[in-house]
Amino acid sequence: MNIKKGVVGKVYHCPIKGEFEFISNGLITIDQQGKICDVLHPSDPNYSKTLNFLKEKDSLQELTEQQFLLPGMVDLHIHAPQWPQAGKGLDLPLNEWLDHYTFPLEHKFSDLSFAEQYYPHLVKTYLANGTTTATYFATIDTSSSLYLAETCIKYGQRALVGKVSMDDKEMCPNYYVEESAEHSIQEAERFITSFSQLANNNNLVEPIITPRFIPTCSLEALKGLGDLAKKYQCAVQTHASESDWARDFSQEKYNKTDIEIYNEAGLLGERTILAHSIFLTDSDIDTIKQKGSGIAHCPRSNIYFANAALPLREYLDQDIQLGLGSDIAGGPFPSLFMACSDAVLHSRARECGTNASLPAEIRGQKNSRVSLLEAYWMATTGGGQLLKLPVGQFKKGYCFDALVIDDEDSNLLICPDLDSPQDILEKIITHTTRNNIRQVWVDGNQVK
Ligand SMILES: [Zn+2]
Repeated sequence: MNIKKGVVGKVYHCPIKGEFEFISNGLITIDQQGKICDVLHPSDPNYSKTLNFLKEKDSLQELTEQQFLLPGMVDLHIHAPQWPQAGKGLDLPLNEWLDHYTFPLEHKFSDLSFAEQYYPHLVKTYLANGTTTATYFATIDTSSSLYLAETCIKYGQRALVGKVSMDDKEMCPNYYVEESAEHSIQEAERFITSFSQLANNNNLVEPIITPRFIPTCSLEALKGLGDLAKKYQCAVQTHASESDWARDFSQEKYNKTDIEIYNEAGLLGERTILAHSIFLTDSDIDTIKQKGSGIAHCPRSNIYFANAALPLREYLDQDIQLGLGSDIAGGPFPSLFMACSDAVLHSRARECGTNASLPAEIRGQKNSRVSLLEAYWMATTGGGQLLKLPVGQFKKGYCFDALVIDDEDSNLLICPDLDSPQDILEKIITHTTRNNIRQVWVDGNQVK
């Protein structure tokens, strides 16, 4: 047997949207490379033999009655340099928030010693909160963006790291803009090729092409980045139709939607993450589905900055690829568990509406609620599928990215006499904070 170790205990995961699987005394075996060899139920013919084999080798971790094993969370949208800003100014309009806090702060990361103060804290915090796969926007500075990738490797977090591209001199602050489209494309390529120099075991960390959004990028830069995505088979992330302003900008300047512009630039592929995507046309949705791209829903930051609610119910029903993002610092919480609750809250506010002076029948959008299990599926399996990575569920051949959760000394109260398996999972999703997360593995390595 190529089995290195095993974990046995109460196992939860959501391989199918809106459903869950619970295995009491589930046995997960892991190989030398940190991949899952098998997920065994007690009824499996190999179960006892494998359990005894691991016990004899002293390679079995037995979870306690109060502990649960869940897959690691997959966060599709994080602005790494905004971590020191998390929690500031969330009562401001977006343009004031960006000009006053965000751009001056991101600019500071061109000083590597500044990045060294904050990136390790960020990566460790996300791991402690259960995020085993993180998708980061860094800044326009290539060196400190590479340092973020090194930091993820150092602490063992699976990550896609993007050097931000923004070259439009009219739209970017004069102190935080790349000097030309040509330079922007060159630096993006230098960033991608530099990954071959990193001590990147099992390709834990990979580069992702990151045009900030349409208003800050020239068409020439977008096209050049699209060419790089093709040349290096790189994933792509950006913002799409986040707000009224962003949608109107593309219409007024180009008479096109964001999706049409990205598509023409060659930026829509099977591993393209479109953050937000609130104001999509039917044709945009067809294009996204055709290209196999996906949407990172960031429910918390959307409430602050998007001017409208994502039609998440409809997108889930149309089988668009969907995952969740915490969106530091547009959302202040470095936790996808929180994002699951936010997604449900967001959809319920949308369903009921908010204007009390309107009659109930026309106040909201009927039947637009999503379930907590659907949100949790997005935070795990959905995110993994969107990234085309074997993560987010317990399955033979998948990476062993996992969390041990218990209810000790926390807000989480499990009542064995009162709670069904689904009740327990819903409580775990709703109440888990870093206090509940005892252990975290990425690729079979314990990182917390
Ligand atoms: Zn964002």
